[in-house]
Amino acid sequence: MDFDVITIGAGHNGLVTSAYLAQAGYRVAVFERRDIVGGAVSTREIVPGYRFDLGGSAHILIRLTPVVEELQLERFGLEYLELDPLFFAPYADGDSIFIWRDVDRTCDGLERSFTGEGDAYRRFHEEWLPFARAVKEAFLSSPGPLELGRAMAFNPALKLDWKRALPMILAPYGEVAERYFNEEKVRTPLVWMAAQSGPPPTEPLTGPFLLWHPLYHEGGVARPRGGSGMLTQALARCIEHHGGRVFTGAPVDEILVRSGRAHGVRVGNERYTARAVVGAAHALETLGRLLPPEHRPPETRAMRVGNGFGAILRLALNRPVRYADHPGDEARTALQLVCRDTAQIRASYADYLRGEPAQDPPIVAMTFSAVDDSLAPPGHEVLWLWGQYYPYALSGGNSWDDIAEREADRLLDAFERVAPGTRDSVVGRLFQHPLWLERELGLLRGNVMHLEMSLDQMFALRPAAGFAGYRSHLRGLYLTGASTHPGGGIMGASGRNAARVVLKDLERRRS
Ligand SMILES: Cc1cc2nc3c(=O)[nH]c(=O)nc-3n(C[C@H](O)[C@H](O)[C@H](O)COP(=O)(O)OP(=O)(O)OC[C@H]3O[C@@H](n4cnc5c(N)ncnc54)[C@H](O)[C@@H]3O)c2cc1C
Repeated sequence: MDFDVITIGAGHNGLVTSAYLAQAGYRVAVFERRDIVGGAVSTREIVPGYRFDLGGSAHILIRLTPVVEELQLERFGLEYLELDPLFFAPYADGDSIFIWRDVDRTCDGLERSFTGEGDAYRRFHEEWLPFARAVKEAFLSSPGPLELGRAMAFNPALKLDWKRALPMILAPYGEVAERYFNEEKVRTPLVWMAAQSGPPPTEPLTGPFLLWHPLYHEGGVARPRGGSGMLTQALARCIEHHGGRVFTGAPVDEILVRSGRAHGVRVGNERYTARAVVGAAHALETLGRLLPPEHRPPETRAMRVGNGFGAILRLALNRPVRYADHPGDEARTALQLVCRDTAQIRASYADYLRGEPAQDPPIVAMTFSAVDDSLAPPGHEVLWLWGQYYPYALSGGNSWDDIAEREADRLLDAFERVAPGTRDSVVGRLFQHPLWLERELGLLRGNVMHLEMSLDQMFALRPAAGFAGYRSHLRGLYLTGASTHPGGGIMGASGRNAARVVLKDLERRRS
């Protein structure tokens, strides 16, 4: 069978690329290994009556892109539910922080609880909003070698005092928080959110992970009704609406190469040909396994996957979560940042470096049944506890199959400190540790971002020097996905950027 474009992998980025190309009138086929689309953006009924996401849940970055609008995904069943408050941080002494979509409301609340901190938040927001917007623009374009520098240095809207700004950008994000805020209870939720990208708060050159915090107020945090996977279901419907084909349970075994050009794929005994092949799986799967050995580029050896990332305990509860000091629904609507202080994040990272799962994990708790009644039976709850840091390769000869139950209990114990009694309401659970993520979702070594998100693997260096810009070393073979710029997370920017590159090449060949 012949197509214009074949995409390997139906993660959300592969689907986004395919949807743009199908919308432009090209004959597109997507081949997905699993029996459902979505990769790390999928949802399933795991406990009867409860729908669990199997990967990412908080839709933040994609809301900063034009993807949903341009592909008209609402026509294909996507409905976003807004979360407001965005973040809630409970502390054992009864204090708490709320970050609302509205900046003024956030600052007023902070100022009432911690004098001076509301003003500090406003100053931080105002100073860094233009920078955050420039970073967002850089996400939406192919990364050239000097792209970010150019976007920053020659952007008149930035109005940055570079003598003051540069040390912040180059600093570890944990230090940036200290320079703006005196109160540890205000710093902690900001630092814990910045830590979601992977690098620890002590790593130099990570300032931007905190400095783009103002974007949360721009795009908000949202949830597709029915679960995260409704995004990828809508994308698949969009592709099919435009005449494309989406094959599930169809693992690609090999990329076909002739005369230095990728010209199709082999799925079992079937061969499918195309003018362009888009590798939307992990870069090491596309370049390091699916290509015939003589075409595998040496750069794959330098791509750093790292040693695991986080783990998540999905719980089905027979009643809503009750925080000891915050009985209302507001807390349950937000992303709940259960982290005592920034020292807890650093200590967990130290455990991870020793090859041990975090002994006292900081948590992002999520109870989206508070805004979406399709996720659990009436009056019941889904509670998901995401913890960091969890190594894939464990020290002391331990294996995840042996320690999984113990580590799942540890996450629940940590949550019990702010919401006692939760354990008694658990009626079902699924623990997704790094080995589970590799086995089930193909996330190598459990890295939810595919490759480590350190500066040496970002922008024009992602997945490797010479492979950014979504073209590969072979004609006709393109890359997209979390392995490429701008990296992991539910965003679709890589998928959109890649589509533009493929479109340009197809149009050129056509003319
Ligand atoms: C537990 C968890 C929680 C997360 N939480 C969040 C969050 O709250 N917010 C957020 O923004 N991000 C979150 N993330 C990160 C985010 O979900 C991922 O970075 C992102 O979804 C990756 O998407 P992708 O399309 O680039 O790749 P993937 O989703 O990895 O898709 C790649 C696809 O390729 C398929 N494939 C692989 N090999 C083959 C083959 N040979 N043939 C055919 N198909 C193949 C795979 O099965 C998969 O479907 C989370 C991830 C996980 C796992």
